[in-house]
Amino acid sequence: MRPAVFLDRDGTLIEERGYLDRLDLLELFPYTADAIRLLNRAGYATVVVTNQGAIGRGIIDEPFLRRVHDTIDERLAARRARIDRYYHCPHHPDAIIPELRQTCTCRKPASGMIEQACRELSLDPGRSVMIGDRHLDVLAGAAAGARTVLVRTGHGAHEESTLTGHARPDAILNNLMEAVGWLLRTSSR
Ligand SMILES: [Mg+2]
Ligand SMILES: [Zn+2]
Repeated sequence: MRPAVFLDRDGTLIEERGYLDRLDLLELFPYTADAIRLLNRAGYATVVVTNQGAIGRGIIDEPFLRRVHDTIDERLAARRARIDRYYHCPHHPDAIIPELRQTCTCRKPASGMIEQACRELSLDPGRSVMIGDRHLDVLAGAAAGARTVLVRTGHGAHEESTLTGHARPDAILNNLMEAVGWLLRTSSR
């Protein structure tokens, strides 16, 4: 089983835009490609796990979400970096699409997307890390048995100021590149 890095998308890999509903709003952080390439070369699977309740709310649709992820992939590929798989949760408690209005097991802070990735890609959560900018990322990673990093980009700086005991990450760092540096220094592989 491989180790993985589970990555939140908005505020972690790309700029936080609220609901990202236009491609021109998509902006990778300047260090994102370098950070992902380091993980690729170190042998970590790179897996995005993202809540996309905007689908259930009718703000974006599945084809648009694919275009966003294809565009991220193109920009990363131009810099020799690769996301191995994207998982998204389309559900929302207030969804207007009836079949997506549910309390699911995939929407973070639940760990369903991480657990699905571990099954489908033969990943070892115990040697993996979840990196995100919100408490719900930390909770999802911890529930799956992974280490967790809160980054201060996106909502992270505010979330850090409201940390509670049950959402205590293993590290709090300025951004994804610092998180990758921490991981490569501290993992016993
Ligand atoms: Mg986020
Ligand atoms: Zn879901």
